[in-house]
Amino acid sequence: MIGKFNIKTIRDVHIENKTVLVRVDYNVPLTPEHTITNDERIQQTLPTLRKLLKHHNRLILISHLGQPKGKDKSLSLAPIARRLQQMFSDYEVLLIKDFTKPAAHELLARQTRKQILLLENLRFYAGEKDNNPIFAKGLAGLADAYVNDAFSVCHREDASVVGMRKYLPSYGGLLLEKEITAISQVMNHPKDPVVVILGGAKVSTKLPLLFRLTEIADYILLGGGLANTFLKNHNIQVGKSVVEPHQKTAVKELQQQALKHHTTIMLPQDVVCAETPTSETGEVFQLHTVPKNKIILDIGPETQAIFGKIINQAKTIIWNGPVGFFENPAFARGTEFIYYAITENPNCFSLIGGGDTITAVAKQEHLDKISHISTGGGAMLEFIEKGTLPGIQALERTTKTL
Ligand code: ADP
Ligand code: MG
Repeated sequence: MIGKFNIKTIRDVHIENKTVLVRVDYNVPLTPEHTITNDERIQQTLPTLRKLLKHHNRLILISHLGQPKGKDKSLSLAPIARRLQQMFSDYEVLLIKDFTKPAAHELLARQTRKQILLLENLRFYAGEKDNNPIFAKGLAGLADAYVNDAFSVCHREDASVVGMRKYLPSYGGLLLEKEITAISQVMNHPKDPVVVILGGAKVSTKLPLLFRLTEIADYILLGGGLANTFLKNHNIQVGKSVVEPHQKTAVKELQQQALKHHTTIMLPQDVVCAETPTSETGEVFQLHTVPKNKIILDIGPETQAIFGKIINQAKTIIWNGPVGFFENPAFARGTEFIYYAITENPNCFSLIGGGDTITAVAKQEHLDKISHISTGGGAMLEFIEKGTLPGIQALERTTKTL
């Protein structure tokens, strides 16, 4: 069991001497020369892999990488196989180029306990995204059991995420367990005051999340491009900033919902602007004074101070979305401030997630001061919104046992 979810994990069942198909998410960032720039996603799965190996299981690892159209060689898992080989020097790591071809059958059939097999990018096969039952059955046919340790793809109804439960006893891995436990803890038993910080480019993609978060939050601090639409709704000039024109009603509804739940939504009081996102420096403006030809690209120092005070008092913090155009260091200060403010509050449970949010904080120090950094971007947001995910439901519905 993981909290209220009827999922068996690899701690609940003893898996020994079996061939285990492990769904991992090794969709790691690569340079154009195919060098891995950050192997955090691989590192995070090591406890599960080590535990299974310790009990003499033969592992077949499955993952996707990027969004290939057919067999795109630049998205081969070869660099990942090489990295795994470095991490597991006592084992032989083999990349299986095409598990559906006879050439692979022998390797698969003769796998020893000292070999870890990694199947080539699952998205090279159309059946993965289509959740094709024949493809799913073929994949399941390689092993005795299935372990899902890829929380970050649990919002996808792909064959390797939801298609295995019919054919194989299916279990949750340790990373999956850790993610579900941490996020459920925050959503179900948050300590007051709860402070949500939400940034990012667009409000439309985050509205359902915002609606859900008003139910538990005392404060919602808004920054990033997303805040512009709110400012505009209050008839505040935002110059040439990106705003979403069709969100007026939804934003109003959200503000009513916030009122109902006694949630205070806070907007930036001052902002950093420039003529283009590539400008070398920005200029601080109070609200109502943003020039017509400028774009809002970060929160200003006054806003930092106000947000900082609220973050400092929080007992629970949820942060998703950079509060500025952080890709340009000139507009990364607000996001860095938020990060350090969170790490300087020792009395709170902090949850951070989102693809760009993680990128923005990845190189900072004190990462260990964050209670939970989710590996799931879209998956985390959808899990908060809906309370479950297709990949979680699939594990709950597995009918086979070992
Ligand atoms: P995450 O991936 O963490 O969920 P999002 O994808 O929602 O975050 O948003 C991240 C993007 O939002 C970044 O590319 C960032 O540059 C952009 N962004 C943040 N603030 C602004 C702004 N004021 N103007 C334009 N883009 C912004
Ligand atoms: Mg993003």
